Amino acid sequence: MGAESISHWSPTHAGSGAMSQEDIEEGSEASVHDLSVSFGEMEMEDPADVSFQPLSDTTPSSQGSGSGSASDQGTTNGWAGRKWIVDESNLLELFKTCHTCGTAIEEKRMVTRASQLKIYWTCLRGHSREWASCPDQTNMGRDNLLTCAATLFIGATYTDIKDWVDLMNIPIPGKTQYYNIQSKYLIPVINNAYKDQQQKIMERLTQLSASGQKIELCGDARCDSPGVSSKYSTYSFQDDTSQETVHYELVQVTEASSSVAMEAMGFQRGLDHLISKGVDVGVMSTDRSPSIRKILKDSYTNIRHEFDPWHVNKSVKKKLVKVSNKAENRVLQTWIRSSSNHLYWSCSSSRGDEEECVQRWTSLQYHVCGVHRWEKDGGLEYQCLHPSLTEEEQIRKKWLKNDSPAFRALKGIIMDKTLLCDLRQMTLFKHTGMP
Ligand SMILES: [Zn+2]
Ligand SMILES: [Zn+2]
Repeated sequence: MGAESISHWSPTHAGSGAMSQEDIEEGSEASVHDLSVSFGEMEMEDPADVSFQPLSDTTPSSQGSGSGSASDQGTTNGWAGRKWIVDESNLLELFKTCHTCGTAIEEKRMVTRASQLKIYWTCLRGHSREWASCPDQTNMGRDNLLTCAATLFIGATYTDIKDWVDLMNIPIPGKTQYYNIQSKYLIPVINNAYKDQQQKIMERLTQLSASGQKIELCGDARCDSPGVSSKYSTYSFQDDTSQETVHYELVQVTEASSSVAMEAMGFQRGLDHLISKGVDVGVMSTDRSPSIRKILKDSYTNIRHEFDPWHVNKSVKKKLVKVSNKAENRVLQTWIRSSSNHLYWSCSSSRGDEEECVQRWTSLQYHVCGVHRWEKDGGLEYQCLHPSLTEEEQIRKKWLKNDSPAFRALKGIIMDKTLLCDLRQMTLFKHTGMP
């Protein structure tokens, strides 16, 4: 496509250029005036309108090429009704004769407000009528509100949608208008829905607490950008049973000295908030951040602190990959996946028993050598808990030699003091799936 065809394609603004000569041909000459009202001129009322009520069962009619009775009558489902992309020239064919009496139209004018089109006509018999492509709502064409809502609710930006409509030459609200609509009508609705939901969750948790039940929460921080350059950090709390987000704290970098400090600040502020609202926190599961560990140990002695196995497993796996990259440890590569699975299994199967969890994890050092029964602690006998292996499995597995560098490297990771200590705080298997 050359520059010429591109400029031919270049979209026209506010519908004005769309009125080419052929569109004006019918009726008396120049009877179609495009009185496009710039969308920016419209006043918007109710700066914080939260009146929108979602339909309880939104079924915006059948998709596809339906020709059943419902399609013939059109959908009258309010904002959820079907909408069509119509060529302007085809649409104007419908305005050659008066809709009331069928006589030729004498005078006609089009008024556009972004995506909304209104046509006013007077026929030879003197009927003056008006037609609109969609109803008005909050002082704008409803489809303008819907366009902005749909863009925001799918998580797209104005630019994403603007490129598409420009190529199609479909008018939509301008950028400033879009963000006005977003902040005046859409964000308040989202805010309200969020607060409603949060209130219900909090009511449930405080009732449970009042009846003596301990609440188990998971928490994690997220920054707006990785590393030290973050401006904001949010710390979210999730109810472990329902997996619902209960609360989050937003911390700005100006409040704290570093991103690590932001996380700790968000955590403590959020936890204090929940406790003050009457949530009786019994278990708090987080990553192994030293500052959060210290906060819980020093100031919240009645809360059991658990580590999310996902975070711990990630760091163990990283270590395994690193050592297995050395030439003499290559054989360890075949053991990375099963070691990681074994870590999860040790936590998930020990049901709160700290000794059992450590015992299960450290049994890996025997298993990887092909030893499934062993003695330790002065003659006590232990064994693997997996079903006994077939002779073929026992031969095919790449067992490690217990005097090899690979084994020593793996054993170093298995018996790492910090890990063995942390495992004691992973026995409830609070796996949050909050990366
Ligand atoms: Zn008429
Ligand atoms: Zn075994």
